Amino acid sequence: MYIIKNAKVYTPSYAGIKDILICGGKIEAVSDNIELSGSAEIKVIDASKLLAVPGLIDNHVHITGGGGEGGFASRTPELMLTQLTSAGVTTVVGCLGTDGTARSLGALVAKANGLTAEGVTAYAMTGSYAVPPITLTGSTQSDIMYIDAFIGAGEIAISDHRSSQPTFDELTRVISEARIGGMLSGKGGVTVLHVGDGKRGLEYLRRILKETELPACSMLPTHIDRSEALFAQGVEYALAGGYIDLTSSADPDFPEEDEVMAWDALKRALDAGVAPDHITMSSDGQGSMPIFDGQRNMIGMGVGQVESLHFSIVKAVKELGVSLEHALMTVTSNPASLFKLSGKGAIRTGFDADITLLDEDTLSVNTVFARGKLMVDKGECVVKGTFER
Ligand code: ZN
Repeated sequence: MYIIKNAKVYTPSYAGIKDILICGGKIEAVSDNIELSGSAEIKVIDASKLLAVPGLIDNHVHITGGGGEGGFASRTPELMLTQLTSAGVTTVVGCLGTDGTARSLGALVAKANGLTAEGVTAYAMTGSYAVPPITLTGSTQSDIMYIDAFIGAGEIAISDHRSSQPTFDELTRVISEARIGGMLSGKGGVTVLHVGDGKRGLEYLRRILKETELPACSMLPTHIDRSEALFAQGVEYALAGGYIDLTSSADPDFPEEDEVMAWDALKRALDAGVAPDHITMSSDGQGSMPIFDGQRNMIGMGVGQVESLHFSIVKAVKELGVSLEHALMTVTSNPASLFKLSGKGAIRTGFDADITLLDEDTLSVNTVFARGKLMVDKGECVVKGTFER
């Protein structure tokens, strides 16, 4: 058991200076003053110079590694536990990407379960870039219904030279299957769409909202900040009721032509009137970041970093004046509610004790609890992954 004393609590809305009691992996109480005496089992954490925020949720990470677009040597490595926890992330959603052939859904589920066994909470998406989607049990719908780790489908690629060029009807059917699989198993059943830099942009999604009965909450287009053109479409789509996901992995020193940085995109979307609960942010961690020339030849390669999520939130708050509540929502309560992650994304009695303590001045990650277990203590990762030293 732990008592976090005198933290400025963001639930993610600001709730004042509170004590938080952690017991059995859950948040047992959030209150003005919690005193428990007579038990040596209780550890007290003085958080008087710290902010307590929900453990961050990274809804898009290539946990088994991604990439490969530059040949076999360009396949990116697997994610390690402390890449999440050191960045304040306690919940991750893993996905495949371009490669659904040499990367398998079985390995994805195994990796997600492994990360959960190591202390955080990991979910996964069935499918890859391709349509018809690859599956474990025969269909997208049954994958979501029968495999605990699967909470939705994706990332299905559209408007990209690497996509399988699905037709409108083919794409609509996948989104519908994922949604029904989610309904029947009490999961979100959201389809995440990787949107490339093709000129069709969000055209299919706009048509889905107009021409079908599928609700906006059944799909989440990501990489909306990849270019000014796509960002403009994303804002319009969100103002029409859609949800959009910003990708934080980018190299600010080598921005792609026309790329919008995630913190900037967040600020501009909010200023344009997009509802704060319609924006999520994810890292695209461990994804490859191929750099193409004008003829679609790859001329360089980087790897997405989970830590860019926290970095982008801090940038948005500290440099652009986005409120901490709004910035936090994109990586806590918003993904929790869209993906229906029960007990996640808020500091609330009865919820999982996923809590990140941030330095009040710098917002740097100080201490992290995942399901009540102390993972990072004053900046030091005290729990390591099985193969980390
Ligand atoms: Zn992608």
